[in-house]
Amino acid sequence: MAEPFYAAGLRFSCARCSACCRGGPGYVFLSKDDLHRLLVRFALDFPTFFAKYCTLVDTGAGYALSLKEKANYDCIFWEKCGCVIYDDRPVQCATFPFWSSILASEGDWLDAGRDCPGIGSGKLHSRSHIEECLYARRSAGTILLSAEEAAHPEVIDAATLLGR
Ligand code: SF4
Ligand code: SF4
Repeated sequence: MAEPFYAAGLRFSCARCSACCRGGPGYVFLSKDDLHRLLVRFALDFPTFFAKYCTLVDTGAGYALSLKEKANYDCIFWEKCGCVIYDDRPVQCATFPFWSSILASEGDWLDAGRDCPGIGSGKLHSRSHIEECLYARRSAGTILLSAEEAAHPEVIDAATLLGR
């Protein structure tokens, strides 16, 4: 089997430009661990947390739980000082840019670098670290609600989602 293009590692250091957190539409999907951490952080029940911070995205296979955006497309958790939940940010954010979609080919990696000045410069990340990020994201999964649940998120108990 051929070696991945990142076998010798890839350079990335966040330049803290916030481009990936604001200014354009996008999704930040939540895993069960993400939801649990954030519910604990804010000491909220699921319906209240959902109403304040979440939206649902129809994936065709279910309704994925995602962070809400502000009217200007900034992430609901982005403020002038940056990400206000940085230590508890979702695995999707914590593993960027080592996502399967970006690592599908060297061309995809270079394309992603057009929108992220940190890609291709700074710290050298080893193949094993990159693959740990891929595994972390894949194993975390995304919370999916059924159509019935999506119609009434205000009555869902967190344990129902976290216990699946
Ligand atoms: S776009 Fe890249 S450099 Fe800018 S904040 Fe996001 S990860 Fe950091
Ligand atoms: S949760 Fe934090 S790191 Fe993730 S997109 Fe929102 S502001 Fe950015």
